[in-house]
Amino acid sequence: MIPAQCSCGNISAGSFFYAHDSFSTANVPAGTLDAFCTPIHLSAQQIVVAFEMAGALFCEWLLVSPDNSMGRVIAVANQKGGVGKTTTAINLAASFAAAEVNTLLVDCDPQSNATSGLGFVKDPERVSSYHLLMGAASGEEALLTTELEQLWLIPSHKNLIGANLELVDADGREFRLRDALAPLRDRFQFIVLDCPPALDLLTLNALVAADAVLIPMQGEYFALEGISELLDTIERIRAALNPELGIEGVVLTMFDERTNLAQQVMAELKNFFGEKLCRTTVPRNIRLAEAPSHGKAALVYDPRSKGAESYIRLAKEIIERQALAAGAQASETFTTEGTGEHRGEPTVEEIRAAGEMDKTA
Ligand code: ATP
Ligand code: MG
Repeated sequence: MIPAQCSCGNISAGSFFYAHDSFSTANVPAGTLDAFCTPIHLSAQQIVVAFEMAGALFCEWLLVSPDNSMGRVIAVANQKGGVGKTTTAINLAASFAAAEVNTLLVDCDPQSNATSGLGFVKDPERVSSYHLLMGAASGEEALLTTELEQLWLIPSHKNLIGANLELVDADGREFRLRDALAPLRDRFQFIVLDCPPALDLLTLNALVAADAVLIPMQGEYFALEGISELLDTIERIRAALNPELGIEGVVLTMFDERTNLAQQVMAELKNFFGEKLCRTTVPRNIRLAEAPSHGKAALVYDPRSKGAESYIRLAKEIIERQALAAGAQASETFTTEGTGEHRGEPTVEEIRAAGEMDKTA
């Protein structure tokens, strides 16, 4: 399968060339993305990452997901500044899109770094997340297509900072984003929200709209500083506004695994967060820092960079977690008839069989 770049200049999901025996992999550095996919060096214009395993994984996830018609909304949040929220939001969203699932990135930060990081210049006239929160435009009207065929963006503008004040006495002010995104949820498998570095009304709107929070943390001492405030906020939102809000995971960013300090910080975070600490860590990587100034996600700017690779791995890990969680949820309702005995995590075949039994019942 060698689909061409589409005529509009977008990089279609199909241009993430799948590995076939007949293609040469001679130019691919050893070990690149080995656990995830088989990259093939083509031309500078073409993306060289294949997503065979991701595709299989998505199929499994879609099969076991309790309600696969609704996209999963992930808020990337940490009120600490400069920890890699925007870098994570852009590159995670791009990695989902590259795995051929429709993905929406919503810039919820007046700094508009996710907007400029995908190559959009500042434009106060453009419909943005500000208009969504103010009820002045629909989500549909705010959608922008991007260089990746399956990635859309709702941009931001610095006027968003005004929403914090303008909404202070507004009805349902915490639900504005959730309500605006509701009509879009069945069109995207993932909706990624890039939050500002504050626990303000903008972050609150994102956390009320989200199914789960992904917390990027820099691998340094004081990494945990302020984290209890974020966790308290999440608890309060669960109690009052969004009982379904979960923690997607905690991801270590700008991580240098070779240092003792980094290892100590990782051990401390593992102790604190347990299984919520993502296996994938994101290294400090110059390509990740350069890519936004070219208006590109790292996997478009330099798909073979360690930075791009780490976010592809993170996307894969999040999909795996979803598949596991959905499997566990399905197993809770799938008990041995009559005894109520729990059968453990069902296989995909068991879930399929259960579906067939339902149809014939
Ligand atoms: P803010 O709180 O201001 O919104 P943020 O949490 O969104 O910041 P980013 O903007 O993603 O953080 O990153 C802060 C800076 O660090 C940026 O210059 C970014 O390019 C750089 N950066 C982020 N992650 C990495 C990385 N893994 N390797 C190298 N540079 C990185
Ligand atoms: Mg940011």
